[in-house]
Amino acid sequence: MDIKLASQYSINNREQIEVSEKAGCYYCLSIFAPKKICEYCDWGATVLCPKCGIDSVIGSNSGYPIDLETLKKLHQYWF
Ligand SMILES: [Zn+2]
Repeated sequence: MDIKLASQYSINNREQIEVSEKAGCYYCLSIFAPKKICEYCDWGATVLCPKCGIDSVIGSNSGYPIDLETLKKLHQYWF
């Protein structure tokens, strides 16, 4: 798992998230179902976290395991 590449999955990720089983935010460390997402930025291409509104959401389809441990690692690296 390459933490440095994760940010590419948190932009222009709407399609990737919509086909993912679950999604997680590595800013507020919440895990949620992709259908809970109802806010987007970048003209609808980038998903915003339903809890904190930050564009730091990755989906399970990105290849990253969506669990607390992974989200914490990403959080430490990116914030
Ligand atoms: Zn969040």
